[in-house]
Amino acid sequence: MKNIAVLGSTGSIGTQTLEVADQTKDYKISALTAHTNVSLIEQQIRKYKPKLACMTDESAAKDLKVRVADTNVKVLSGIQGVCECASIPDAEAVVTAIVGIAGLKPTLSAISCGKRIALANKETLVTAGEIVMEEAKRHGSEIIPVDSEHSAIFQSISNQKKFLKRIIITASGGPFFGKSRDELKNIAPDMALKHPNWSMGAKITIDSATLVNKGLEIIEAMHLFGLSADNITPIIHRESIVHSMVEFCDSSVVAQMGVPDMKLPISYALSYPERTVPVCETLDLVKVGTLSFYDVDNETFPAITLAKEAAKKGTIMCSVFNGANEAAVELFLGGKCSFTDITRFIETAMSKAPKIENPSLDDIFMADDFARKIVKECV
Ligand code: NAD
Ligand code: MG
Repeated sequence: MKNIAVLGSTGSIGTQTLEVADQTKDYKISALTAHTNVSLIEQQIRKYKPKLACMTDESAAKDLKVRVADTNVKVLSGIQGVCECASIPDAEAVVTAIVGIAGLKPTLSAISCGKRIALANKETLVTAGEIVMEEAKRHGSEIIPVDSEHSAIFQSISNQKKFLKRIIITASGGPFFGKSRDELKNIAPDMALKHPNWSMGAKITIDSATLVNKGLEIIEAMHLFGLSADNITPIIHRESIVHSMVEFCDSSVVAQMGVPDMKLPISYALSYPERTVPVCETLDLVKVGTLSFYDVDNETFPAITLAKEAAKKGTIMCSVFNGANEAAVELFLGGKCSFTDITRFIETAMSKAPKIENPSLDDIFMADDFARKIVKECV
């Protein structure tokens, strides 16, 4: 039995993490956190009996305290409370399933206590990859990716890191694969929220439709595996069966495959270097029949080009890329901008980004604020 804390337990990754705990019976839950979903976290508290729980939203925290007054859980509030849950002494591992840059500070708290990070919150590495990886090294904290592509890369590299030449990162292409830029102009949020292969939270589903998600994942992979953006090649793979590949110096390519189910990478990030009982369906390649691969259409979907440019310019530009995207996705979901505006706004924010060498954490949050402000001015 391993004790774990789940940050963002009411979301897509959070709830699937709890399913993995049910299926494997290998984990006891020490802490749970959420933003506003009081009724779901109340059910989770009654079932998993954590010592700590936190709502980032203050009024949700007050509500939760009243609802679970008959249990032994201590209810905290705000981002400080999430950081306390992330550093709870009895948890060996922390699943970072919060969405957005809001996950950065709690992840750093868990790292400062030397915990295993099962990293779902990619925005943490996109905005502050250098600081996070350095802190992890300093505190002996292992960062094991939950993102399916990065889990695939991690599993494919195995103990052959010194021979790694290139990463081939797969992308489903999202619901608008094959469309032209013109056809994307009138996409409504409900159309973009229908992903062909994965069921995920709203923000990452939009990121998958714009291909910003693949841009974020390229930056995430740079930090996790120590390669430059030029050595990470994105390709479209419609079936989401090959979760990514690595190429070694002798041109051998190794891939990891499985049905598209996040429970597998979640489970592996927690059990590594061990493996557990099955947590998802087995792969039947005959039933799948065909695996198809295509080039990315960078003209229709400029997100990857923008992400690679940000990666070359460094930390502040990556934070601006991320912050502008978070703000633009919120506007799009609220019906306040068009689908194609998302990458247009990111580009505008990047063109105005400040230049700061060796940025501190404060500089990174400042760049995030700056990008959000520019995007608000765009509408
Ligand atoms: P989600 O929207 O379903 O859940 C987000 C969780 O974070 C919820 O529990 C919510 O209460 C909490 N939260 C939201 N805003 C918060 C804030 N400001 N402060 C603190 N907590 C907050 O998101 P998700 O799809 O589970 O994604 C979570 C993270 O995992 C994202 O970074 C995403 O990119 C990454 N990821 C998700 C998937 C997937 O299949 N869903 C796959 C790969 C990576
Ligand atoms: Mg992914």
